[in-house]
This record gives sequence, C-alpha cells and structure tokens, in this order.
Amino acid sequence: MQIIPQADPGAGYRAQKAEIDAAVARALNSGWYILGKEGEAFEREFAAWLGTTRAVSCANGTDALALILRGLGIGEGCTVATVSHTAVATVAAIEMCGAVPLLLDIDPDTYTMDPDELVAVLEDPPPGLPPIKAAIVVHLYGQSADLHPMLEACRANGVALIEDCAQAHGAKLNGVTVGTMGTAAAFSLYPTKNLGALGDGGVLATDDFELADRIAAIRQYGWKERYISSMVGVNSRLDEIQAAILRARLPFLDAGNARRRAIADAYDVALDGGPFSPPERRDGAEHVFHQYVLRSANRTEVMAKLRQMGVGSGIHYPVPVHLQSAYQGRVPLGPAGCAETERAAQEVFSLPMYPELTAEQIGQVCEALRAFAHG
Ligand SMILES: *Cc1c(COP(=O)(O)O)cnc(C)c1O
Repeated sequence: MQIIPQADPGAGYRAQKAEIDAAVARALNSGWYILGKEGEAFEREFAAWLGTTRAVSCANGTDALALILRGLGIGEGCTVATVSHTAVATVAAIEMCGAVPLLLDIDPDTYTMDPDELVAVLEDPPPGLPPIKAAIVVHLYGQSADLHPMLEACRANGVALIEDCAQAHGAKLNGVTVGTMGTAAAFSLYPTKNLGALGDGGVLATDDFELADRIAAIRQYGWKERYISSMVGVNSRLDEIQAAILRARLPFLDAGNARRRAIADAYDVALDGGPFSPPERRDGAEHVFHQYVLRSANRTEVMAKLRQMGVGSGIHYPVPVHLQSAYQGRVPLGPAGCAETERAAQEVFSLPMYPELTAEQIGQVCEALRAFAHG
C-alpha cells in the first residue's frame, strides 16, 4: 500500500514546477549568484507581504534568529528566555551568540510559551543567571503564541521580544500577522515550511531600519563597504537561485495556508466522537497549520495503526531540548520546570499536512481517523 507521507516537499515542487523552473533559469542566466537582484526583490516582496518595513534574507532560520540577537548586541553575559518544546534550532541560535538559554514551559493546549512563567521570570529573574535581555517566542505548529501579555511584560522590563515564525508564515492574532508585533521576527525557508525554498534559506523582518541595516552588514562579514568590515560579522547569505524560487512561491503562500486550514477542518470533523481532541484554536488566532498535531498516551500504537491504514505520521518533537544529551543538565529551566513540555513530547504526533494533499488522500486520512472512533 502507498503510505501518504507526513510531509512531501517534492509534491510542492511539482505543483509549482513551471513557475519555479522559470525562476531558476532566470537566476542561472543572470550571471550573478549571491546577494543580487533576486534577493533584493525577495526581501522587498516578503516585507510587503508581511507588512513590515524591512526584511533581510540569510542562509537559514537558525541564522535569522542568531542575526537578530547579534544585531541587538545580545551575546555573552546575556540570558535569552525561550521554550524547550521547539525545534532545537531556537536554542542553538541563542548559544551560537554566546548567550544563555533559559527554557520555560508551555501551555499544554496550544504548545506555546506559558505567558505567566515569562512574566514571572522577568519580574523575578532566577538567581545566578546573567540578565535576561530577550525572549524568543515560538509560534509553534502554525499558531500564534499568547503574545500580548508577553509583549507587555517585555516592554515593561526593557527586554526584546523576538518572534520565531519558522512555522507560522501568515498566521494571525486578532487580525495582525505574526512577525510584525515583536522587535524582530525570524522565518525559516526550509523546504517543508509553509514558505519553503528548495534548499536552505531564512529571512528576518523588522520595522527598525537601523537594526535591519546592522544585520544586513553582519550577515556578510560586517561589510557596509566591500572588503571592509566595519563590525564583526558572519557569512549567512541567501543565494539568488533560492531567492528566485521563493519569489515564485510567495504568491501561492496565502492560498496554501487556506488549503491547510481546510484540510485541518476536514480532520477535525473526522475526529468527532473519537478518542483524540482536535488541535486547540486560540481565540482570535488564525492558524496556518504548519503541523496538525494530536496527542495520545499510546502514541506508538496509534502511529502504527495509522500506518497500517496507509497514513504516515511524524513527531514534532520527540525529546524536549533540555533532555537531549547536548543540553541535558547544562541549560537552565524556568521555575515551572517544564513538566508540560515533557508530557507533550511523549504524546504528540503529527498527521499529513501540506497544500498538495489530494481529496483522495485527505479522504483516506479521515477514514483512518474515523476508524479510531469505532474501536
Ligand atoms: C525550522 C525551524 C527553525 C530553524 O530553521 P532552519 O531553517 O532549519 O535553520 C527554527 N525554529 C523553529 C520553530 C523551526 O521550526
């Protein structure tokens, strides 16, 4: 039996093949391959789509986070609060800059940072840590975190709020697109993300012109002028082929997100009366379903049964960052201790979710979900 894959970036390419192939040919024929017209146009078009004044492209989403931190002067001698229930990239970016990550727990219904715990550590920082200079809030699985109380607490304490939008291109909170509310926002353009390149890519966005200029220099050796580093930088550039591909794909993003929501609605209906609760939709939030995540105390059996019915599934993520061997016993946790994070990591699993799923495939997933309701 054909198994419906949980993610299928090849289907994404085939659906937009004509536009993507033309964009690649244009970039190849231009004779200019790194930081040129395609990249500049992508930055302009992405900023316009998002609703920020500036976007700066870079090599990947991890670098987008790290570049924001570097641009804000956050590194050694600073603590950055974030969550442990995330792609390890979020935490890796903090350590790349020399800062200490402080890992907070999540709200178990939406899997995003518990705002009460962030407020608590900003008001009463854990002893023995350098001062908290930023919070990286992850809009996980395609849904906005409970941003407003966190924005308010960060503002009151002079702390930067950085939005990790790697899974949330186009998600909204009370009608406002995520990535426009914090100090700056980082997006991954990895092939499986809601907006994906066909290789690595990242972009960050901000309304702060000076910050954007500083970051644009840092991403290329700290150059403002060719061959002259005016500050310490790195090399994190988006190439012209990926930029051209992203320009070809950006016009499809909103329709792709709408299609993901329609698929999620179909899954919700199929779950009715069964043992699994559909993913929680936060009041006022427009979810873009990077992942459609369920939970079960018997995840292994459930995933095996799905597979027997031709439905692939995945786990995002199986081990919290603070329990992975590279981090265990070394990274500080917030006062709540990440109990909800640990429980979620043992129970979550993700169903197939991408705009190219066919009606037939969606029907097959729904049939499998209905089978659980009937024993
Ligand atoms: C994918 C992802 C990243 C990192 O992006 P890369 O492009 O793989 O470096 C960061 N944060 C989250 C939440 C992600 O899902």
